[in-house]
Amino acid sequence: MAKRALITGVNGQDGAYLAKFLLDKNYAVVGAVRRTSSKNIRRLAELGIADDVELCDIELLEFDNILRTIQHAKPDEIYNLAAQSFVAMSFEEPIYTGAVDALGATRILEAIRRFNKSIRYYQASTSEMFGRAQESPQSETTPFYPRSPYAVAKLYAHWMTVTYRESYNLFAASGILFNHESPLRGQEFVTRKVTLGLARIKHGELGVLEIGKLDSKRDRGFAGDYVEGMWHMLQQERPDDYVLATGETHSVRDFVVMAGKCLGFDIEWQGSGDEECGIDRKSGRVIVKVNPRFYRPAEVDVLCGNPGKAERLLGWQRKISFSELVATMAESDDRRVRDKQVAI
Ligand code: NDP
Ligand code: GDP
Repeated sequence: MAKRALITGVNGQDGAYLAKFLLDKNYAVVGAVRRTSSKNIRRLAELGIADDVELCDIELLEFDNILRTIQHAKPDEIYNLAAQSFVAMSFEEPIYTGAVDALGATRILEAIRRFNKSIRYYQASTSEMFGRAQESPQSETTPFYPRSPYAVAKLYAHWMTVTYRESYNLFAASGILFNHESPLRGQEFVTRKVTLGLARIKHGELGVLEIGKLDSKRDRGFAGDYVEGMWHMLQQERPDDYVLATGETHSVRDFVVMAGKCLGFDIEWQGSGDEECGIDRKSGRVIVKVNPRFYRPAEVDVLCGNPGKAERLLGWQRKISFSELVATMAESDDRRVRDKQVAI
C-alpha cells in the first residue's frame, strides 16, 4: 500500500516541492493548510499538483484540531513545515511566533505520542539557531546562539523534537536547514525580493529597489534539493539530526549583482553604510538603495554550513549551484513580470 504523508504548511515553498517529490514517489499526500477566507494553493498549482494533494485544514495554535487532523489523515510520516518563517516579522510578533513555531511543533509531537507513536516526524529546524555562530562552518555539534524570536522559537521546537525522541522513543528527526530558495520563495525574503524587484525595474514597474544590510552572508541552496534530504531523514533506521547546506556563503551584495546581470543590468556600488546605492553602469540610473528600515534589531552576519554528515549517512547531495539558482530565480521573475502573471 502507498505510504501516507501529512505535510503542514503544504502551500509554503518547501511544502509544495516536498508534495511534488513525494507524489513522484507514489505517496498519498495529505496537505494541511490553515483556513483563510480565500484558499491559496498557488504554489501547488504552479507545480501542477493542485489536484493530486488531498487538502485538509490545520491550525498549529489548536491542539484538538491537530489531533483530529492526524487521526483523520492516518499518516505514516508527518513533515512539520508550517511556521511563521520570516525572521524580521518575528521581532514584531514574538509571542505569536513562539506560539506557532515553538508550541505548534510541541502540539504535533504530543498528538503523535497520544494517537500513534509509530508515526515518523520531521521538524523543520533552521541554521538561524546558530545565529552568532560559534564556529565555521556550522555542523550538528556547533553550539547554538539564536539572535531573533524566530530562532529562539525554532530552537525550542528543535530541543522538543530531541526530547520526545529520547523520552518516548518517537521517530522524530530534525533537519537543520540552511537557507534555501527557488522561484516559489516568499516575496519578503531577500533573494526573491531582489529577483522580483529587479525584474519589475527592467519592465518599468518599479523605480528603485530598497534593501537592508548588503554584507550579511548566507549559505543558500535550491529548495528542491533540500526536500529530498527531508525525506531521506525519515527513511533511516534511527532518527537523528542533520545539517543540509552547500558549504558556500554569499553576501546579499553578490546576490544583487548576479541577479542584476541575469536581468541585463551592470551594477556598481557607490557610497557607504546607510547611503550606499547600486547604479546601473549602462543607464547611469540608481536602481538599488539601502534603506535602514530593513535593518533588524539583531543581525546574523554570516552563516556557512557543513553538510558532511548528511552526505555521508543519507547520501544527500545538492545538485543546483548558486549561480544556477540565481539565474533560475531571475529568469522566472523576468517571465512572470513580462507576462503580467500574478506573482506567487
Ligand atoms: P513558508 O513561509 O513558505 O511556508 C510556511 C507555511 O506555514 C505557509 O504555507 C503558512 O501558511 C504556514 N503556516 C504559518 N502559520 C501557520 C499556522 N499557524 N498554522 C498552520 N499553518 C501555518 O516557509 P518555507 O516553505 O520556506 O519553509 C518551510 C519550513 O522550513 C518553515 O518552518 C521554515 O521556518 C523552515 N526553514 C526554512 C528555511 C528556508 O530557507 N526556506 C531554512 C530553514 C528552515 P500560509 O500559506 O497561509 O501563510
Ligand atoms: P533569513 O536568513 O531567514 O533571515 O532570510 P533572508 O533570506 O531574507 O535573508 C536575510 C538576510 O538578508 C539578513 O541578514 C537580512 O538583514 C539581509 N537583508 C538585507 N536586505 C534585506 C531585505 O530587504 N529584506 C530581507 N528580508 N532581508 C534583507
